[in-house]
Amino acid sequence: MDQSGKRYTKSQFLRYFEAKVMRTIRKYSMLEKGDKLVVAMSGGKDSVTVAHIINHIISKRGEQLEALLIDEGISGYRNTTIIDAKKFCKDEGIKLKIVSSKQEFKFGLDEALKKLNMNPCNICGTMRRYLLNKHSRKLKATKVVTGHNLDDEAQTILMNQYKGNVQLSAKLGPVTGITEHEKFIRRIKPLYFMTEKEVTVYSTLKGWDIKYTECPNARDSFRSGVRDQINNMENDYPGVKNGIINSFLEIMPELRKILKPKSKILNCKKCDEPSARPICSMCDLLEKYSKSD
Ligand code: SF4
Repeated sequence: MDQSGKRYTKSQFLRYFEAKVMRTIRKYSMLEKGDKLVVAMSGGKDSVTVAHIINHIISKRGEQLEALLIDEGISGYRNTTIIDAKKFCKDEGIKLKIVSSKQEFKFGLDEALKKLNMNPCNICGTMRRYLLNKHSRKLKATKVVTGHNLDDEAQTILMNQYKGNVQLSAKLGPVTGITEHEKFIRRIKPLYFMTEKEVTVYSTLKGWDIKYTECPNARDSFRSGVRDQINNMENDYPGVKNGIINSFLEIMPELRKILKPKSKILNCKKCDEPSARPICSMCDLLEKYSKSD
């Protein structure tokens, strides 16, 4: 069944899904000749689905594709998704690079949580964004492909509203990071208009050997609360998720104009990576961690 409730056979659903992703790619000119694409791989259903579809598309066009997996150091979770990611990439013939926060910073999320009284998702997101951008640049990526789906984006829009962080919403959308800084790699989200349920159905029909487990830190997260709320609303009032996305896309161009950063993106004084402030959030985190001894 698709978002509108229309029923399909297996092959019809696969065709519907792939055609809709293809329309998103075309509409937002996500792929350009000569691109070097790096998929942000986690081994979960979203990254595997987007990697498979992009791999299929570029096999006929000539862009290059690699996968980059950031191991944030979440025991009992990331170590199992890494096994799935390795198998999937091998089967698809996609080169996979794994970068771990332990190698890079000498600690992972589990160690950080023992020392820092901080929200796990904030630490995790800071490490992941930093490593993904830095290492995809090292792989000479022109674009990072992420598996964000419609549910993820609707949740983020509402989370920003609830927290009064509307400036962060100006950085959302199907394509991001266009003009921010020469060291920022642009991000594309081909699954932008596909719901979480549709991605689950697609990956299940494809029969990939992946786990559908959630990170143990997800349960108590702010996102998880917002997700439950939107899912309940969608059950009672079908179309709510699409409503959030479509109304956001309507105001997005104005939002980006109005909320354009007043100051230029800088290079962090410590690590030289792009940052909105003189010291980037990753270097801030490293400082907090070293002082917590
Ligand atoms: Fe990281 Fe939080 Fe997602 Fe777990 S739920 S992978 S800690 S952002």
